[in-house]
Amino acid sequence: MVFYTPGRTTSYPTDQVDTGLRLHFLGGAQEVGNVGCVIEDKTGTRVLVDYGLSPGDPPSYPDECPSVDAAIITHSHLDHIGMVPWISANHGCPIYSTDLTRAIAPMMWHDTYKISKIEGHPLPWDKRDIEETAEVWKSVQFNEKQTIDEWSWQLHPAGHVPGAAMIEFELPECRILWTGDIDVRDSPNVHGAKPVSADVLVMEGTYGGREHPDRKEEEERFIQKIQDVVARGGIAIVPAFASGRGQDILRLLYRADPRLRVHYDGMGKRVTKHWMDHPHHITNADEWTRIWRWVRRVGSKSDRKKALHGDVIVTTSGMLKGGPVLWYLNRLKDDQESAVLITGYQAEGTGGEMLLENGCLPIYGTLTQIACEVERYYLSNHCGHNHLVEFAKKTGAKHVVLFHLPEEAIEPLRTSIEANGQVVHIPENSKSLHIPI
Ligand SMILES: [Zn+2]
Repeated sequence: MVFYTPGRTTSYPTDQVDTGLRLHFLGGAQEVGNVGCVIEDKTGTRVLVDYGLSPGDPPSYPDECPSVDAAIITHSHLDHIGMVPWISANHGCPIYSTDLTRAIAPMMWHDTYKISKIEGHPLPWDKRDIEETAEVWKSVQFNEKQTIDEWSWQLHPAGHVPGAAMIEFELPECRILWTGDIDVRDSPNVHGAKPVSADVLVMEGTYGGREHPDRKEEEERFIQKIQDVVARGGIAIVPAFASGRGQDILRLLYRADPRLRVHYDGMGKRVTKHWMDHPHHITNADEWTRIWRWVRRVGSKSDRKKALHGDVIVTTSGMLKGGPVLWYLNRLKDDQESAVLITGYQAEGTGGEMLLENGCLPIYGTLTQIACEVERYYLSNHCGHNHLVEFAKKTGAKHVVLFHLPEEAIEPLRTSIEANGQVVHIPENSKSLHIPI
């Protein structure tokens, strides 16, 4: 639980920046999620990039944000936007992102608020703050130059999920590229990110030291499993995040076999509507119109019962922590013919992690054994190790700051990026990192 005392509980230093650049990670340095970082130079301009939280039991939050001139949000995942309403409530600064991120964020907050009430973990912001945030939030297009005092900045596509952005800052003394979460590979719904030249690169390192299996092969393995489960008379449950993975799965299934009876439940349906309202962010938007007509959208209790007679159920929550997925699992828990196909990252302490580790998870407060087959697929929308290293090199940056990374990713990434001839910095939460320019 966080009880900030605005201005008094921040870890942000009080001294001015004399030279170079100060990056102060409020969260998300050597951890995946929970991101928030304040960038400041000697002009005194201060910008916050992202302000998220990490779902878990209890959730974790970044440090209190000091007063800033603006906040720029890279994308709509909770670990990057979960705490944004707190900013508006306490600092009232302008907030910027792409139009799609802006459209999706409020529903993520409402959902977070609902879960916090159910789980008894109070949030430091309330529903009124969501309304206020919507009023100060401005959307910008990719490659549209903006200014904050003497800084100019623009957004570039980051791959990862539709609407996700990298931020290019042009400061009086240097150019910074902030990646947010990136993937250079094309995914079913979005084109991969392209490097942008910079002096200082601030790059996520979620998968540092690891390579993903070939995406095409992994997609084929996933589809094959779906076919096997359906052939033996079971149902494939695919827990998926509302924003990104669920829609990737739907497109894969539609392309592989449109005869499949695929049911789609949870918040992802509303997110997808926003995608369709912002078609410039997704690849082949026309195909989405067809997928939308094809997929069986679950909108009522009777739809939910019908889904139990289908082939595949794609639903939230992606980490099996609340959401309709628990309702389905509770009914199918003893069915050995059915399968739970995990396709996304599972944070520690979530139902998904427990299911993978021990074959059981809490459902409505009861630890429940699951007899269904449980299988994991690696359909990540983050760069793997070599793509990160190559991306860093192509930006030509002298300094590379790595963040949003687990401990085991640090040394492999440091070694490979230093071999590029670049200077690597590993920031720590609640501490300032000074980059000489
Ligand atoms: Zn993300």
